Amino acid sequence: MAILVTGGTGYIGSHTVIRLLEKEQEIVIIDNLFNSKLSVIESIEKITQKKVNFYCGDVCNRQMIRDIFMRHNIKSVVHFAGLKAVGESVEKPLIYYHNNIMSTLSLLAVMDEYHCKRLVFSSSATVYQDAKTVLPEQIGTGIIEGKAISEDFPLNATNPYGMTKLMIEQVLRDIYMSDNQWDIVILRYFNPIGAHESGLIGEDPNGIPNNLMPYILEVAKKKRPYLNIFGNDYPTKDGTGVRDYIHVMDLADGHVKALEHMESRCGLKTYNLGTGKGYSVLELVNTFKKVSGVDIPYRITGRRLGDIASCYANPSKAEKELRWKANYSLEDMCRSAWKWATVKNLSFNGDEENV
Ligand code: NAD
Ligand code: UDP
Repeated sequence: MAILVTGGTGYIGSHTVIRLLEKEQEIVIIDNLFNSKLSVIESIEKITQKKVNFYCGDVCNRQMIRDIFMRHNIKSVVHFAGLKAVGESVEKPLIYYHNNIMSTLSLLAVMDEYHCKRLVFSSSATVYQDAKTVLPEQIGTGIIEGKAISEDFPLNATNPYGMTKLMIEQVLRDIYMSDNQWDIVILRYFNPIGAHESGLIGEDPNGIPNNLMPYILEVAKKKRPYLNIFGNDYPTKDGTGVRDYIHVMDLADGHVKALEHMESRCGLKTYNLGTGKGYSVLELVNTFKKVSGVDIPYRITGRRLGDIASCYANPSKAEKELRWKANYSLEDMCRSAWKWATVKNLSFNGDEENV
């Protein structure tokens, strides 16, 4: 019996595959390598000393998924494959809707055909967008941090990427309503950063990074002169944005727990995966500086459009029901990210670099 991992050579997928291989699970990966590299498979096998079955292909290709199900006895699926850049999704909505929705529909149809009804789906805290928004009149009033976000917060999306996550979540709820033989766990991730302790795999974005940690790494490596901090006038502890950063290995463990939870039939469940703690941009920058010993010059610029002041999880449902809790500290996250950036030949903008 095998676990099919779509998007398994990507950032979160590859770290999860390592944890699953360590649990002696047989793993089949499908990834079209749109946002990852084949060398990730080599790194996974080096770290775990175990083999994975890899298929280079598109999850939208229903026949290819069928072929995989014909060849392997798939008992459950972890569905990471998808496009994830918020800004790009605003510019290219059709590509996002097509890729993220079509791939999921194809996958679900084939799972149904093969009576494989166990799915873990990668959703995002971005589905809570409206609930997180700080009203303009709250700024400068000393109302800070907002509230920890629990799974029952109102859902809304303000960009096509977030909308694809909401739409897929709805499809999954409808499928479960129509057939309660399905076991489906929707995981809403907060802000994954960090890397495997080996430094052999990590986040490897194409082009100019959108997210904070990949940008800090490029500044640390002198690929960029300074970090732009998007606003220091938010109603937060130091005026910069607050997020719930979670170590990618903690996230990986969350998937293992979700799959274990399904073994005894769980129905459809939704869980936040976060630490429950919010750190500001400056706190992350200072922690990174401390653990790496590298200066991170920065400039305060205007707020980024659509950004919110503060966003952190209430992870108590996952703790109670999945018996999962984030263990790694912010220092661990920064240390492992820096190791990945220095030990491994990290590619920037597609260029392999020897460090
Ligand atoms: P990633 O881009 O590193 O990994 C996604 C992988 O999916 C890539 O390897 C890509 O090549 C592959 N892929 C995309 N479309 C495909 C398709 N149609 N067929 C086959 N492969 C395809 O991203 P990630 O950070 O590992 O994210 C994994 C999942 O988690 C995504 O669904 C993402 O939306 C979600 N998520 C990520 C974050 C984050 O901050 N990284 C936060 C919340 C949710
Ligand atoms: N951020 C920043 N400079 C950057 C990238 C991000 O100041 O180059 C800030 C951003 O405004 C937010 C935090 O860092 O407050 C996390 O941003 P990221 O894009 O990583 O995550 P998201 O905003 O999607 O939660």
